[in-house]
Amino acid sequence: MAPDKEELIRLLSDEENQDALFQKADEVRRRNVGNEVHLRGLIEFSNICRNNCLYCGIRRDNADVCRYRMSEDKLAETARQAVALGFKTIVLQSGEDMYYTAARMCRIIEAIKKLDVAVTLSLGERTYAEYKAFRLAGADRYLMRIETTDKELYHRLDPGMSWQHRYECLLAIKELGYELGSGIMVGLPGQSLASIAGDLLFLRDLQIDMAGIGPFIPHPKTPLAKEKGGTLNLALRTMAAMRLLLPDINIPATTAMESLHPDGRIKALCAGANVIMPNVTGGEYRKFYELYPGKAGADETPLYAYSAVGKKILALGRTIGTGYGSHRRTTAG
Ligand code: SAH
Repeated sequence: MAPDKEELIRLLSDEENQDALFQKADEVRRRNVGNEVHLRGLIEFSNICRNNCLYCGIRRDNADVCRYRMSEDKLAETARQAVALGFKTIVLQSGEDMYYTAARMCRIIEAIKKLDVAVTLSLGERTYAEYKAFRLAGADRYLMRIETTDKELYHRLDPGMSWQHRYECLLAIKELGYELGSGIMVGLPGQSLASIAGDLLFLRDLQIDMAGIGPFIPHPKTPLAKEKGGTLNLALRTMAAMRLLLPDINIPATTAMESLHPDGRIKALCAGANVIMPNVTGGEYRKFYELYPGKAGADETPLYAYSAVGKKILALGRTIGTGYGSHRRTTAG
């Protein structure tokens, strides 16, 4: 039986018995999506952003960030190198940078699709026409976290943005036939466990294909610098509960988890996760895509990212996914 809201709150609060939750989520993961761990090559291609989210290190008002955008050629070259290493999915993530017009983005997507990989976009909020153009250009998946379903909290943390608009973007993305990834941060200032339980039920009702869940980590150059941030354990419990609610989706062991503990992603793989997204951004850029401090892998090479992560996966008795790693629904709906 899938947990209801009350049971979710209980699971989220029960640190003492969290190992039992992790084991259960691990078993549900094994039965529904098997032992393959899918690797996605993440390219953070621009840290220029029109938004000013209070939690985010690359927010518009952070004047201390060295801003960059990668050229179309550089992006294609980075993708080619990642594909040569074995990645079957390329994830393109950026701030909301309108330099990448629909036409420019479509050219980038088409070039990368020629490499015979799945392409995931994570560019934030765009128009319906743009989402449609990206899809027609070959994009397969889109990731955009709702961040929190507490609308008051959202509007406080994301000034000038609209929760309803973000939600409508998610619906548009789904309607256009993308595989939809969404998710939340846990440990935001003023976020309760009941609120997180509500987020999980929201993500279930949205029937997402992928759920990215990570702890909020305060960045010193943001208005939330002095906040406490989320813990790895609460993030893991949230992720494990997500696995119980949506047994067959893709769930990444997130970079923010790894940033709080050197084995954060391994712990996540043993608590319901089945995806890792190693960073393959070129070394000259990656240190500038600092969403939060201590971001794991800031000085790794793509080759190291692939081989070190691969070894850890094999050591767990799991295998590296050989296909595109798309979400296959095993249950009705
Ligand atoms: N512009 C894109 C990508 C945003 S960055 C978009 O809007 O979707 C990717 C994710 O990093 C965000 O959705 C947020 O959940 C997470 N993030 C940002 N700042 C963070 C912080 N300080 N700690 C942890 N995660 C953070």
